[in-house]
Order: sequence, then structure tokens, then C-alpha cells
Amino acid sequence: MVCYILCISCVAPVHVQASLLHKEVSETFIRKSLLVEQSDMKIELLPALSDNYMYLLIDEETKEAAIVDPVEPVKVLEAVRKHAVRLTTVLTTHHHWDHAGGNEKMVRLVPGLTVYGGDDRVDALTKKVKHSNTFKVGSLNVKCLFTPCHTTGHICYLVTKDNSNEPPAVFTGDTLFVAGCGKFFEGSAEQMYRALIDVLGRLPPETRVYCGHEYTVNNLKFARHVEPDNEVIKKKLAWAKEKVSNGEPTIPSTLAEEFKFNPFMRVKEKSVQEHAGQNDPIETMRSIRKEKDGFRVPKD
Ligand SMILES: [Zn+2]
Repeated sequence: MVCYILCISCVAPVHVQASLLHKEVSETFIRKSLLVEQSDMKIELLPALSDNYMYLLIDEETKEAAIVDPVEPVKVLEAVRKHAVRLTTVLTTHHHWDHAGGNEKMVRLVPGLTVYGGDDRVDALTKKVKHSNTFKVGSLNVKCLFTPCHTTGHICYLVTKDNSNEPPAVFTGDTLFVAGCGKFFEGSAEQMYRALIDVLGRLPPETRVYCGHEYTVNNLKFARHVEPDNEVIKKKLAWAKEKVSNGEPTIPSTLAEEFKFNPFMRVKEKSVQEHAGQNDPIETMRSIRKEKDGFRVPKD
């Protein structure tokens, strides 16, 4: 059984200043954290910066914990204290500042942390990993999935527990987002196809997806543009708008869901290929990524 608990005590205020004609308008958005509880692991979503997520992963059996992309280390420590867990591990998805930029401070605050990553450019890296490397966080198994494209050293982390019938979790950084994927800064459509379809797409369908940013609403608006007749997209968009307007996360999704509404995971579907004017999945991936890079997101 899974329960979602909204943690009101741990909120992240984000101040956004917008200049409207001659008037300065200041808005404050509150982004709430969320605790996803299973009997084998707990995952707390910690909003960071304007739209990033850090994830505190807790092994319920040993109370050992790992933090994914701790860009705001003080906030991480507050969560560690609240849950009374022992933080031993940093999982870094990629070297970009908004993911790895807190690593140096994190290891100063908690000496002895092991910092995993797949790229020499990751700050404070202590263990460089490759595809299929495995290690433990308490009794949890972590498997590294090499998904180069957004950056050449991007790693996703799959977390499972032996003899558990609860769903695995995968931390996908800026490779797979809910209803979208990362920009191809250092890679190709071939690589993103491999990452999304051959690597992540072959994980168990019930695997929960914990991604690096809250981009869901805009991603679904692009998905709707690609597939205007897809009812799943329309429903998910209405749901995501409601969530975001309440300051609540739209994460996690599952891989099964992603195959229903994420155009980048649907590049084998005829409807997506027809939109792209292609009949090959990789060319479709290339084409819709290019289109999304220049997509003007509609207001509604
Ligand atoms: Zn990035």
C-alpha cells in the first residue's frame, strides 16, 4: 500500500518578480514537498531552486539514506533530521549546476559522504560509475543506468529491494521528465532513443519515475500539440494544472503512464510519426525534439 502525505512544514517559497508594463508585480509561489511511503523505502520530494527536485531516499530497514542532486544542502539536512536517518550517499545524475552545484557544500556539512556520478565534471565526486554498476544504500539495491545525451555522463539510478513486491523507483535527472525529455546538449537522437526506449523503457512498467524538474504542464501542452486526439494527455494535463496550482508536485509518474502520454516515449506510434512527417522512430525523436526546442507554449 502506498500513501502520499503532503508535508506542509517543509515548503519552499519562490519569489518571482514580473515586470508588467510600468508596474512591478511580485508573486510568491509555495511549492510543497511530498512523501511517498512504501514499506521498503520512503522517498521525500524536496523542491529546490525554481523548478528542481531533490529526493531523499530512505531505506526503512536500516534508516540509511541517500540524496539525489542536493543543490540546496541545508534543506537536505533539515529533512535528514526530521526523518532521523543517517545520510551516507549522494547520487548525482549529471554535472549541471542545478543538480551537482550543492555537492561541495553537502560533503562539508556531512563529512564522509560517498558521492556517485558518471562524469568527471561532477563536483566532489568520490565514485565514478558506469552502466550496470551496482551498490547498496542500507538494504536497498541501486543500479546505475548510463543515459548519455543531455550530457555525455548522465546517469539514472534504479532502486529496488530484494523480495519486495512494491514498485522500484528510478531517478531520471534531465533524461526523462514526466511527459518529456531533456535537451540534447551533448548527444543525439539515437542516444535519447536508446536511453528512453532501450534502457528506461525496459524497466518494469510499474517503476515510479522521479525526474529532475517540475516541467509537467508545459510538457503535456507540447504532447497535446503532437497528439491532439490523445485523451490520456488531455486528462493528465487537467490533473497536472490542478496539482501545480495547489503547489503540489506532479511526480512521480510510472513508466507505463509515460508510454501513454510522453511523445518522446511514443516515437514508435503512428500518430506521433505522422505529426513529425517521419516513419522511423529515431527520425521522429530528432524531429519532435527540434520542434519542442522552438515550441511556444500556449497559455491554456
Ligand atoms: Zn541538466
